[in-house]
Order: sequence, then C-alpha cells, then structure tokens
Amino acid sequence: MKNVVVLGCTGSIGTSTLKVAEDLPDRLRLVGLAAGNNLELLLEQARRHQPAALCLMDEAKARVARDTVGFATEVYAGAEGLLRLATLPGADIVLIAIVGTAGLAPALAAIRAGKDIAIASKEILVMAGETVMSEARKHGVRVLAVDSEHSAIFQCLDGKPGNSVRNLWLTASGGPFRTTPAAEFPDLTVERALKHPSWVMGRKITIDSATLFNKGLEMIEARWLFDIEMARVKVVVHPQSVVHSMVEFVDGSLIAQLSTPDMCLPIQYALTYPERVRSERVQTDLAKLGSLTFETPDTARFPALDLARRAGEVGGTLPAVLNAANEVAVDAFVARRLSFLGITETVRRVMDAHAVVAHPTLPELLAADAWARTEAAR
Ligand code: NDP
Repeated sequence: MKNVVVLGCTGSIGTSTLKVAEDLPDRLRLVGLAAGNNLELLLEQARRHQPAALCLMDEAKARVARDTVGFATEVYAGAEGLLRLATLPGADIVLIAIVGTAGLAPALAAIRAGKDIAIASKEILVMAGETVMSEARKHGVRVLAVDSEHSAIFQCLDGKPGNSVRNLWLTASGGPFRTTPAAEFPDLTVERALKHPSWVMGRKITIDSATLFNKGLEMIEARWLFDIEMARVKVVVHPQSVVHSMVEFVDGSLIAQLSTPDMCLPIQYALTYPERVRSERVQTDLAKLGSLTFETPDTARFPALDLARRAGEVGGTLPAVLNAANEVAVDAFVARRLSFLGITETVRRVMDAHAVVAHPTLPELLAADAWARTEAAR
C-alpha cells in the first residue's frame, strides 16, 4: 500500500489520479488532497477518500471545509498549507499537478522530507530542473514522470545508462494548428486554440500545445529528468498520439511505448513503480488505428521549439525566464489582450532582454522568474 498526496487534485491530472486510486484501492491510499479554489469538488473527493489532510488556496474556503469535514481530517490553506501536505508524515509519494510553478516549493519540501515525487507540473523542472534533480539525488528519492512522453521514455530506457542512448525522441501531436497555413496564424482565436485534437487537458497546457511551447517545455523537462544534453533531445510530430515517445539507442534500435491516449496509464505507472499493475482501462487496437504517421515539426510556424532549445542549451536562468514569460503571455492571450503570434513574440523578446545567470541558486531563479513576469506584462 502506498500513501499518496495529490497537489492539484481537482484538475485534469488530479481527477485522473483519483480514478487510478479508485481502480487500485488495495495499493493506493490518498492521504492528502490539495485544490486551488474548487471547494465543492474537493469536499466530494474528501467524502470518498477520507484523507488525513486537505488544503485550499484560500483561507475563507478552508474554513468552510473545516466546518464540513470531520475531526479526522486536517484542513490547511495557502502556500504554507501546500508545504504541510507535501511533508505529511506517513506519505510515501507526492504527485504534483498544480498548473505553473506554485508546486516548486512543495516539491523541494517533499524531497527534503524523504518522499518520492511524481511530477506532472513540467514547469517546475523547466524552471529549476538542476536544483530539483540534485536535491533528489542528495536525499535518495525518486523523481517520477507523469507526463506521458517522459513516462514513455522512462519505460523504454528501463534503467539503461545514458551512454547507451543516441537520442530521445519526444512525439508531438502537432496540436490544433498542425495543418493550418501560416497566413491564418495572425487571426487564430482562443476558441480554436482550445480544441486539442487528441487530449482533453487543462487550459494552460492546451494553449501550450497549440503554440508547441508544451513540447518545448517537455524538451527541457527531458533534459533534466534523464540527465542528457539538449542536442540529443529530438521532436517528431505524430498526429495520432499513440506512440508516446521513443528512445533511439546507440546500436540504432528505436524502442517506443504505445497506447491509446489516456493519462491514467502514466499516472498509474508513476504511482505503482517499480511494479506493473493490471488495469483494464487502456485497450489499444492497432488494426483499428490503421496507420501511424510521423512528420518533421515546422519550426517556422512554431518557433517555440527553437526558443526552448536555445533556453535548454544556454541553461542557467534562461529556461525559468522562458517559462514565466510564457505563463504571462498565455494568460494575456486567453484574456484576449494578446494575439496568438504575440505569445511566442513576447517570450522571444523577454528572453533576448535577459542577462543569464549560470548555475543559479533558488533565490536567483525566483528573481529571474519575477523579472520575466514583469517584463512580459510590460
Ligand atoms: P488544470 O488546470 O486542469 O488543474 C490545475 C490544478 O491545480 C487544479 O486542481 C487547481 O485547483 C490546482 N491549483 C491551481 N493553483 C493552485 C495553487 N496555488 N495551490 C493549489 N492548487 C492549485 O491543469 P492540468 O491538470 O491539465 O495540468 C496540471 C499540470 O500537469 C500542468 O503543469 C500541466 O502542464 C501538466 N500536465 C497535464 C497533462 C494533462 O493531460 N492535463 C499532461 C501532462 C502534464 P482548482 O481547480 O481547485 O482551482
């Protein structure tokens, strides 16, 4: 039995994690659940799972929760509450699925408390991958990937050393604008960007999938998770989203992980690792799928990929700056204050204006993040 804390339990990854826990009641026990604002759903989840502790972003909502749940459940609030949950005595693994970088401090706290972490929030590894991985090594805990691409690579690597790898191949669906002509890009709307062809996900990652910043963030995430230089992290467009990613080994073998798209699978793998546990949820009929196709990504229409490669290669504070500027730009696009093309342009301009700090400390990363947010907003 593993005791699991879920940060971001009311979101797309969070609710899939609860489904996985409900599939495996004799293996997974939810001991801590943190939501942002969705009090109603959190209370319903708490009724079903009776966790030891809950957390909400807002103190007023936490008070309502405290009055509703029994004495057996502690209710915390805000950033301090997230740290309490991340270090909950008895928790074995903390799954972090908060959108953006709010999960960074809890991730580090969990690691320092000796807990394994399962990371969905790729922004954390983009911003502070070097710090997170070196803290995990120091404390002897695992950092498990929840992102389907990184879970696939982890499964394909199967413990092989870095020097047996020629390249890591991340697959990209290509998003809703894969075949959209460049001439239409200046007028792309939020509604169109939110229609992802293969995955139903939260709003931020869906917009990131339309610009391909999602793949760019994943390239940097892979660089840190698998301790490999950016030049060996490649991207290929695969519209069917059945091959979740691949490892190309030095002998020329390509090993891929395939399944119909369902986030429950990588979530379950992260939570039950190193075991493989029976589940009927994912069934893949290759004959029905018919064909799987692959294309080179078009970096002229999707410059986010080159920006992310540059950020990953330069390193230091630049990935944090890319990530923060992108978050601000996505919010502005969703609020209809910025065009679709403006997202990438904003990130590029903020990156160009940044004086990179090499091997930054955590305070330097946080300062770069704050600077990039102000600069992007400006
Ligand atoms: P959603 O927007 O669906 O969910 C975000 C979750 O975070 C919600 O539970 C929200 O709470 C919670 N939250 C937001 N801010 C805070 C905060 N300050 N404190 C505590 N909780 C907070 O996002 P997704 O589930 O789609 O994505 C989560 C992360 O996982 C992202 O980093 C994304 O890139 C990554 N990811 C997502 C995939 C997917 O398929 N969705 C695939 C791979 C990675 P509430 O709703 O209650 O306000």
